[in-house]
Amino acid sequence: MIKTIIGKLLSLILYPFRLIVNLLLGLLKRLKFSIAFKISTTYLILYVIIIMTVALTTSVGYLFFELQKFEETIAARDSENIINSFPDFNKINIEEERYSSFEIFDKNLNTYYSSERPGRYADSIIVVIEKIILYNDYVHSESFYKNGSTYYLNISYPMEDMLKDVWRISLMVLISGAIGLMFFAPIVSSTSYRLIRPIKNMTEITRTITVNNINTRLDVKGTEDELKELSETFNAMLDRIEGGYKMQQQFVSDASHELRTPIAVIKGYVDMLDRWGKNDKAVLEESIAAIKNETDNMQDLIEKLLFIARSDRNTLNFTKEDFRISTVLKEIEKETRMIDSVHKLYFKFYDDATIYGDKARIKQAVRILLDNAMKYTPPGGYIMVSGYIQDEYYVIKVEDTGIGIQKDDLEKIFDRLYRAEESRSKKISGHGLGLSIAKIIVLGHKGKIKVKSTPKKGSEFSLMFPYLDS
Ligand code: ADP
Repeated sequence: MIKTIIGKLLSLILYPFRLIVNLLLGLLKRLKFSIAFKISTTYLILYVIIIMTVALTTSVGYLFFELQKFEETIAARDSENIINSFPDFNKINIEEERYSSFEIFDKNLNTYYSSERPGRYADSIIVVIEKIILYNDYVHSESFYKNGSTYYLNISYPMEDMLKDVWRISLMVLISGAIGLMFFAPIVSSTSYRLIRPIKNMTEITRTITVNNINTRLDVKGTEDELKELSETFNAMLDRIEGGYKMQQQFVSDASHELRTPIAVIKGYVDMLDRWGKNDKAVLEESIAAIKNETDNMQDLIEKLLFIARSDRNTLNFTKEDFRISTVLKEIEKETRMIDSVHKLYFKFYDDATIYGDKARIKQAVRILLDNAMKYTPPGGYIMVSGYIQDEYYVIKVEDTGIGIQKDDLEKIFDRLYRAEESRSKKISGHGLGLSIAKIIVLGHKGKIKVKSTPKKGSEFSLMFPYLDS
């Protein structure tokens, strides 16, 4: 019972402290996470510093000018009176004067006369300030010549009234500053919140963007400032991502489409086998040959797709070494002559060179060009393969006198799964992946791939690889 009462009492006493701590923590948190709050606080601190500086300079300035006026009028008159009555000061009735005391020092600065307590001669500004602070007294100092000797005079004036004025002035400036702050604070706060509103909008919109609404863009209306630039840059990035995403989607859909045809063919033959093939040897053989053909086709397609996927994921490894390009070219010549007897083949290797690269992949790239030349050149046509050095590259050129490529298609043939209408309509086999793969290989060797073509006349593909020495 007592414990709970004490506990309640304690929490009641501690409540205001807890409130203050929570308030401070809240402020700290806002200071950490809110730019608007940071801007407002910085401006307000600056404002307070300015007001305090103004209060200080006005009051010090006031004091300075008042004292100067005082020196020129009252102190000048008083010192004249004192010096005139030297050395008989009994005529002076201090009670009637504005000063509280005066002192006269001889030429060695020893006290000659003191109306009150004797002290140091105050001639430097430091001693004057010291006396103002310690005794609220302003000391006027002056030297004069009398009876053949030099004397020094100090007159002390109480300056409570003047100091009171100084405090009043500072207080007035501070109060008007505080009143100004009441107007200034909300303006600063609302302006800084308005300034960062675009950032808030950006955060909110960005938070909602997913692959399903990837076409959403940030609002770039409004003034030409850094935030607009940021929004535009962000939108440009979204454009690129959207482009890449759409291409990826297109690729997946095209690849599925490419796989659908062989699967449909295989299914057709399996159905046929199921119905008649068991007893009909001719149907059996035809079906097996077709299924074999289509599975080979599918395997080829899947391998190519995997190659491209690996390249996209950066997991494609090139096993590079130094090798003479002539060895690869000779192998290719031998193999091509063996498999192609329908075209007129020419191989001419003018130069040889050492290349640092993946021999098998480079051979694969040349094979892709040669396979295309053989596919797209009617029987009896010419196919020429040449190898030579041009500037810093070793060029492998494959020319043919085939069907050629339309101008519009030239820039698209390196796109994945793209096939020119001509090759589709002529039912020439292929998946539109060969040139994409050749391009990946060439770029993986810091090389170039080029094409020139005239429809119905022929094409010329060049692979260019940097070489080490010839
Ligand atoms: P594929 O030959 O399997 O269709 P590629 O990526 O190798 O795929 O080629 C893409 C397209 O470029 C081909 O479909 C064809 O239209 C065109 N092409 C490539 N090489 C030649 C060539 N030597 N002659 C004519 N057209 C070509």
